[in-house]
Amino acid sequence: MEDCLFCKIINKEVDSEIVHEDDICVAFKDINPKKRVHLLVVPKKHIPKISDIKEGDEKIIGHMIKTAKELADKNQCIGYQLLFNVGREAGQIIFHVHLHLMGN
Ligand code: AMP
Ligand code: ZN
Repeated sequence: MEDCLFCKIINKEVDSEIVHEDDICVAFKDINPKKRVHLLVVPKKHIPKISDIKEGDEKIIGHMIKTAKELADKNQCIGYQLLFNVGREAGQIIFHVHLHLMGN
């Protein structure tokens, strides 16, 4: 998808601190961290927002949650938040699905 910042990060056209990559998703450090650990888990498939997911996408979303859990463990998070902002009204500013992992 042209002009999508997160697609550009996935394609390495824009720099970021990638901490995980597999066939389905990548995870990188949020540029403006709200917690000690603040990562974004992002599907390689361009889906603008959670309300756009289609039949079959639940596999991708489940994989993202599992990846976030593994990254929380790896970073020794004691407790953490997993958050999807869905829609501009809820604070979504990047329209490529991303799961915030925020933990201390
Ligand atoms: P949201 O409000 O859910 O759309 O969250 C977008 C997140 O992307 C924010 O927490 C931003 O700090 C983060 N962000 C924006 N640009 C970049 C970037 N180039 N690299 C890493 N994180 C970014
Ligand atoms: Zn995208």
